[in-house]
Amino acid sequence: MDGLNNNYRRVCRIRIVKEIILNQSQLDILTDHAMKSGQDESCAMLLGIQKEEQWNVKEIFLTKNVDGNPEVEFTISPEELLAGYKHAEEEHLELVGIFHSHPKSIALPSNTDRKFMGLNGDVPWIIFSGLTTDFKAFILKEDVEEIKIRIMEGIFSNKL
Ligand SMILES: [Zn+2]
Repeated sequence: MDGLNNNYRRVCRIRIVKEIILNQSQLDILTDHAMKSGQDESCAMLLGIQKEEQWNVKEIFLTKNVDGNPEVEFTISPEELLAGYKHAEEEHLELVGIFHSHPKSIALPSNTDRKFMGLNGDVPWIIFSGLTTDFKAFILKEDVEEIKIRIMEGIFSNKL
């Protein structure tokens, strides 16, 4: 066995990366939605296909923030949640993420976010910061952990 072979083996011992996969136009839709919401947090349901620890976004279901305190919290109405789930079912998709924005703070889950992450299924949360204009994704396992956002160009197939 030579060194090259050893290196090859090392490289091939890859663990499955937890990641949420979107394309640029989906990110543009979310950015636009966040910007239009001004000082209020915006929110959306991300519908797609989950394969192990990869969440592949196929469709963005934009929702209204009906929270009484919309500058620092968000709530999707039960009616819109239901409509989102119904739409997902019709399209043979599932909920693969929850999106919301922080107009004036960085893209890290607030204490309220952490509390509610456990209640929305086992899906990633994507946060957009109006302050830094970047996206970050998190999932709640034993603790809240950051996961990768992979940006795919154009239309992609289910075969990843
Ligand atoms: Zn938040």
